[in-house]
Amino acid sequence: MTMSPAPDLYADGGAHIAAAVDLVKVHQQGQARIRALDAVTVGFARGRFTAVAGPSGSGKSTLLHCLAGLDSATSGQVLLGDTELTGLSDRALTRVRRDKVGFVFQSFNLLPQLTALENIVLPVTMSGRHLHHDLLDHLVGVLGIGDRLSHRPAELSGGQQQRVALARALVARPVVVFADEPTGNLDSRSGTEVLDLLRRSVRDLDQTVVMVTHDPRAAAYADRVLVLADGRVVDDVDTAAGADVTRALRTVGRHAR
Ligand code: ADP
Ligand code: MG
Repeated sequence: MTMSPAPDLYADGGAHIAAAVDLVKVHQQGQARIRALDAVTVGFARGRFTAVAGPSGSGKSTLLHCLAGLDSATSGQVLLGDTELTGLSDRALTRVRRDKVGFVFQSFNLLPQLTALENIVLPVTMSGRHLHHDLLDHLVGVLGIGDRLSHRPAELSGGQQQRVALARALVARPVVVFADEPTGNLDSRSGTEVLDLLRRSVRDLDQTVVMVTHDPRAAAYADRVLVLADGRVVDDVDTAAGADVTRALRTVGRHAR
């Protein structure tokens, strides 16, 4: 067996604020063992927007869940900010999820009995942290949900619900916002709005965003497109460099079929 050299994920002066090192995740389903992640090593730089693309079943959600501490790794390491998640107790992991991670789901995941505003501020207030009121006002303005704050999720459109979910993720100032197919349940106009807002959070707030998508148009919003197939990284394209956009989209398109 050949050993690949340990990747120096901090070679660029510690700019990576999330990383997976030799990450393996095996899902047990009855008798079957599914190797959803097969030794994935990847680092994410601060203030960048990465799209994770690849066909259904390629391990995109599993990678996101492991990076966000929503699921535990079988082996390998996950680093988030200055914390190594692998080996943390459940309690410590819960705290990391609460304090360091923003997650945006395809299905919004708002609490139905709470208003939009209550949904947005709940994670911060529950954890006893200081709510940045200026940031909250800024987000509400940028997201265009000022006149919807007293509404409950059922009274909001899908696009509005996802913007509330985005505000909830961003107001907590997480180390990384993870988004798993955030436009998957939206019409194309609302989807474009959400992608614009994610892009803007990277530009204006220096937010780090990692977004799963199998839509090449959504991937085009990112600085970088990471392509998975069968639990491995098969391509990693720096689209911020400009010239590679078409190549990235071709790659995504090919693997999405
Ligand atoms: P993607 O998000 O790219 O569609 P997933 O990460 O959801 O892929 O799944 C990767 C593989 O792991 C698939 O074969 C899937 O069936 C399997 N898998 C994912 N979650 C579980 C689970 N909780 N239990 C068993 N198998 C799972
Ligand atoms: Mg998925």
